[in-house]
Amino acid sequence: MFLMKRGLYIHIPFCVKKCGYCDFLSFPEKEVPPLYTKTLLREMEGRKGGGRVDTIYLGGGTPSLLSPHQVEGIMATALKTFGFTGGEVTMEINPATVNLERLRAFKGAGINRVIVGIQSFNRRLLSILGRVHTPEEGVEAFRLARKAGFENIGIDLIHSIPTEDMEELREDLGRAVSLGPEHISVYSLTLEEGTPLKRAVETGKLPSPSEDMERDMFYLTRDLLTGAGYDHYEVSNFAIPGFRSRHNQIYWKGEEYIGLGLGAHSYEKKGWGRRMMNSERPQEYICLVERKGEAIVEDEELSKEKAMEETILLRLRMKEGIDLKEFRRRFGIDLRETRQQALRDLEGLGMVSVEGNAIKVTEKGLVLLDEIVVKLI
Ligand code: SF4
Repeated sequence: MFLMKRGLYIHIPFCVKKCGYCDFLSFPEKEVPPLYTKTLLREMEGRKGGGRVDTIYLGGGTPSLLSPHQVEGIMATALKTFGFTGGEVTMEINPATVNLERLRAFKGAGINRVIVGIQSFNRRLLSILGRVHTPEEGVEAFRLARKAGFENIGIDLIHSIPTEDMEELREDLGRAVSLGPEHISVYSLTLEEGTPLKRAVETGKLPSPSEDMERDMFYLTRDLLTGAGYDHYEVSNFAIPGFRSRHNQIYWKGEEYIGLGLGAHSYEKKGWGRRMMNSERPQEYICLVERKGEAIVEDEELSKEKAMEETILLRLRMKEGIDLKEFRRRFGIDLRETRQQALRDLEGLGMVSVEGNAIKVTEKGLVLLDEIVVKLI
């Protein structure tokens, strides 16, 4: 049963080097500046009215650039300010930034789940992505995390990398499975505006993967990972039973989260929902936290329509789909009645199924999720 209510996300916006496909908020640094963690702790104190949290997620950027001492400080303050007494504590790690000693120290500081950003085991593809680590370092980071005592390890992979073929993806997935992670996320590469990789594709230096190839890669991923015993519980996420990401389910199920750090987002279930965003500008972020204990620069009260749209979008990404009873309780609307024609059309096309009290996307519909959502909202 899902009992989580509130998550705490902490953004660490620093990376050894910017990857060629990345448009996330991150700056090149070899370690996390002490001023940044000092500001984070202050922000935690300032946001303590947000209530108890059940999960903590250190994301980035590269949170594994933090020193164990900095992680200890974050965990101690989370305990004091958000009443965190244990639960899932995840850290994303970049293979180039860890060794056994650091991983043991992270574990000692309270991290109990790590996500290894391997992305690919293929040297050529890693180089196209502009990652700072080698395939060997990816495997080694995973092994060291196990050796350090982590019993909940995830691997992140990317498919549809320019020049990648089906055999290479099959090999990547096979190697990931052979390591025995509890969780695997596989995302299709998005060519983001302004990134070197997008420019390389636009100027013809690299080929763009076709939509057909992307779809085939999605289904290969699904077949191979479900065949290996992983539960396909969200479009891009697979887990051994009992090892779903509790923190990410908070996002997908529309529960509350507090986001701390540069550019972090928060969500409260006030009214139809309230979304807040921290400043993305380092100087402004630091000054605001120093002055007010928080750095929120955008604050949006969602309308009922917007909240319904988001619920449909997020829930359809999940295996369980939209819970019609819950939807009705929250919005006073029975989707079976108000979206009768759209549902009939989509069912006729084999894209969705209405099973008992849930609307679910079928295997065929999974690659056409955006179109399905548009029809339903
Ligand atoms: S490690 Fe992640 S956040 Fe950092 S530059 Fe690469 S893709 Fe971006």
